[in-house]
Amino acid sequence: MSAPVLFESHCHTPLCRHAVGSPSEYARFALERGLAGINITCHGPTPREWGHCMAQSEWPKYLEIIEAARVEFEGQLEVKVGIECDFLPSLVSYWREFLADKKLSHVLGSVHPQVADYRAQFWHGDALGYQKTYFKHLADAAETGLFDTLSHPDLVKNSTPQEWDVKRIMPHVCRQLDRIQKTGVAMELNTSGVLKRIPEMNPNPAMLREIAARDIPIVLGADAHVPERVADRFEEALGLLARCGFSHVSFFVDRKRREVSIETARQSLKKGATALFE
Ligand SMILES: [Zn+2]
Ligand SMILES: [Zn+2]
Repeated sequence: MSAPVLFESHCHTPLCRHAVGSPSEYARFALERGLAGINITCHGPTPREWGHCMAQSEWPKYLEIIEAARVEFEGQLEVKVGIECDFLPSLVSYWREFLADKKLSHVLGSVHPQVADYRAQFWHGDALGYQKTYFKHLADAAETGLFDTLSHPDLVKNSTPQEWDVKRIMPHVCRQLDRIQKTGVAMELNTSGVLKRIPEMNPNPAMLREIAARDIPIVLGADAHVPERVADRFEEALGLLARCGFSHVSFFVDRKRREVSIETARQSLKKGATALFE
């Protein structure tokens, strides 16, 4: 076991109303798993106050509960404030303004095809068309320059699992990855995909290989909505990354990207005492 190096880059708080556990509880698991730090990235407030996001008025509370964890774990684990921003073309100017005066560590840009407002605008009864729109939006999100990392970047496969055909969509995905590569934005390998309708991490291995081929940085996130899932399946994820052509894994601290070799990351992880999801 070597010194802690890795961060958890994607996890939540009860303010989004579909997660449990305080930032301190998430931090405790991060420490137990041998991480160096944790970016808390709860669903940031949207103008229409969607049910899966914190309310505008809750932002100070969000900072307060993360600050309490930061103080509690000082000297042991870095606890940082991040955010997950729902991407919709119509929200770009809102996020630009919202993010302008915030001091954040990691900003996730997320296209959530299951969100009612997104579906209402872009679902036209055609699964392949919806998938294409989703991947185009990922590249649009990257080009805004607002985000460090694009989360769970093939989530749309779970909207119509029976209509998911990697070979069919991949040429379109590759065109969008070419756009993303030019922006320098990172992409996430999200281990919570194994709990979804198509039970595999997001994105799928074929897409991971295309990301690696373009040298797009990859960030690991468990997308934990319960503390026990912090760093869930990171060993498996690192193995997958290595098989798909990556040598390094990235994370953000104060919005600056850091990179460690997969081998170093692997050696730094500890088996948690509470391996609930094994
Ligand atoms: Zn969530
Ligand atoms: Zn998400």
